[in-house]
Amino acid sequence: MVDLPRTIFSEEHEMFRDQVRRFLEVEVVPYHDEWERQGIVPRELWRKAGAQGFLCPLIPVEYGGAGADFGFSAVLIEELARVNATALGFTLHSDVMAPYILRYGTEALKRAYLPKLASGELIGALAMTEPGIGSDLKAMRATARRDGDHYVINGSKTFITNGQNSGLVILAVKTDPNAGRKGISLIVVEDGTPGFTKGRNLQKIGLHGQDTAELFFDDMRVPVGNRLGEENKGFYYLLTELAQERLVVGVRAAASIEAMLERTIAYTRERKAFDQSVFDFQNTRFKLADAKAQSVMLRSFVDTCLGLHLKGQLTPELAAMVKLKGAELQGAVLDELLQLHGGYGYMSEYVIGRAWVDARVMRIYAGSSEIMREIIARTL
Ligand SMILES: Cc1cc2nc3c(=O)[nH]c(=O)nc-3n(C[C@H](O)[C@H](O)[C@H](O)COP(=O)(O)OP(=O)(O)OC[C@H]3O[C@@H](n4cnc5c(N)ncnc54)[C@H](O)[C@@H]3O)c2cc1C
Repeated sequence: MVDLPRTIFSEEHEMFRDQVRRFLEVEVVPYHDEWERQGIVPRELWRKAGAQGFLCPLIPVEYGGAGADFGFSAVLIEELARVNATALGFTLHSDVMAPYILRYGTEALKRAYLPKLASGELIGALAMTEPGIGSDLKAMRATARRDGDHYVINGSKTFITNGQNSGLVILAVKTDPNAGRKGISLIVVEDGTPGFTKGRNLQKIGLHGQDTAELFFDDMRVPVGNRLGEENKGFYYLLTELAQERLVVGVRAAASIEAMLERTIAYTRERKAFDQSVFDFQNTRFKLADAKAQSVMLRSFVDTCLGLHLKGQLTPELAAMVKLKGAELQGAVLDELLQLHGGYGYMSEYVIGRAWVDARVMRIYAGSSEIMREIIARTL
């Protein structure tokens, strides 16, 4: 047996996978290059995905979602990774941003926003990072000052995924600027609120189709009712929810390695050099054998973490490990696979080159590899 049997997914998950695959083949793959040139995905595509039930699968039916388990999210993440459809910021929207509203929002916020997020009418973003801070969130400077039944928000955020397209942003701000991590709150903000402006679409070395923006807040007034959960508990909420975001990175990494390995095997079998296929060089077969063994090893760990998460038992430490090892392995393996493509590996029209450059950020966002090591090291 070459691959481990997967026990995570049911027949329903696999039927959902077929639907996602068809959607990606028809609605995404043919247009992905164009979106990469434009630096953004048309909002219409989001609405199409929403209509098919591909946004916010975790959100309960009463709020417009599918009321599904995280296995359905994992299927989506895997299928997006398989075709390297990195332009779509669906995961951040569905599995990172929307769950905060579900878990910590008032009934009014849930009713107002979750159905629109599930349909794609609103695109979600989560804004924590600022120009001066990223890893050290407790040092953030954006503030929300209480004024009657409103907050007055000032500050700026950067590197925000879905930033240009976003209709709804969860903002992390200081409600008590002197209290460090105990002074952070999460507040939901609609695009178009006076005082809220979006900066340029940031130019990145990869993820070219994904819009990433700076956001500015200048005396922006937001009702106190838009706060998620309790005042000054935001840091705790972020810590709680980050485990799922980190698992997402592991799930994507494992699927990306598998798909790119498959493509590389096919390419090297086809490509000839020195009167033989590139595949038949011992170096190639050994590199591919290493990649295969690493891929199976990662798959085993990712599926174990997925299984734990489905039972609500994934700890922050295991989530840090799956994020760390997934991202690092993806970077290392894709680099070797690109090498086996020679010059074509460096050409943008070959998926391997784009997957390689897109993967670089996995070691940086959702907490850098160094922060993951810190989290793990604290448990030793
Ligand atoms: C494409 C992209 C999309 C993003 N999307 C979002 C988003 O949607 N929302 C959002 O809020 N943010 C987003 N980010 C921001 C991302 O989460 C941060 O870039 C990341 O957390 C690192 O923060 P930083 O860039 O400020 O780096 P810094 O905190 O300045 O760290 C720089 C480097 O210093 C080292 N370092 C830092 N702290 C430690 C430590 N304790 N121990 C050892 N070494 C350390 C690490 O090597 C680290 O990479 C995105 C970033 C990118 C590139």
